[in-house]
Amino acid sequence: MTPSGSTRPESDLAWAGVRDRLRARGLRWTPQRRTLIEVLSQSDGHVTGSELVERCREIDPGTIPSTVYRTLDVLEELGLLSHSHGADGREEFHVLPAAVHGHLHCIDCGTTWEIEADEAAALVSSLERRRGFAVDVTHLSIAGRCADCSAAKAD
Ligand SMILES: [Zn+2]
Ligand SMILES: [Zn+2]
Ligand SMILES: [Zn+2]
Repeated sequence: MTPSGSTRPESDLAWAGVRDRLRARGLRWTPQRRTLIEVLSQSDGHVTGSELVERCREIDPGTIPSTVYRTLDVLEELGLLSHSHGADGREEFHVLPAAVHGHLHCIDCGTTWEIEADEAAALVSSLERRRGFAVDVTHLSIAGRCADCSAAKAD
């Protein structure tokens, strides 16, 4: 388990070809989309759609949320983002996900941690074995209380 958000040097590389990849999906390269890519390339770890809309609006007040969300969908299909759900169920986007992972959310301090593949495999193996249910680990979000918050509660 590692805290989310680490800068990776390949980040610039990943965004370099995005313009052509969006075009190949039939999305025009508009100023709004360029702004969104700029915002995403400076984002790390997890961001919600509304946070992204806010950041785009700071640069371009004419940002249209539906355009942002439609572009996010396509970027997810291209593997540049993945979405999961926070403790309250809202969508969170993970920018440049390095690997399939689930999430732990502390309901007290609001911190999110990633559940890595081997840890997730141990968690879901009984569901796969007993029910034949193949868990989509990227959608695995577990809410609870972290060790620090549990200790604080116990004091
Ligand atoms: Zn979902
Ligand atoms: Zn994540
Ligand atoms: Zn906590």
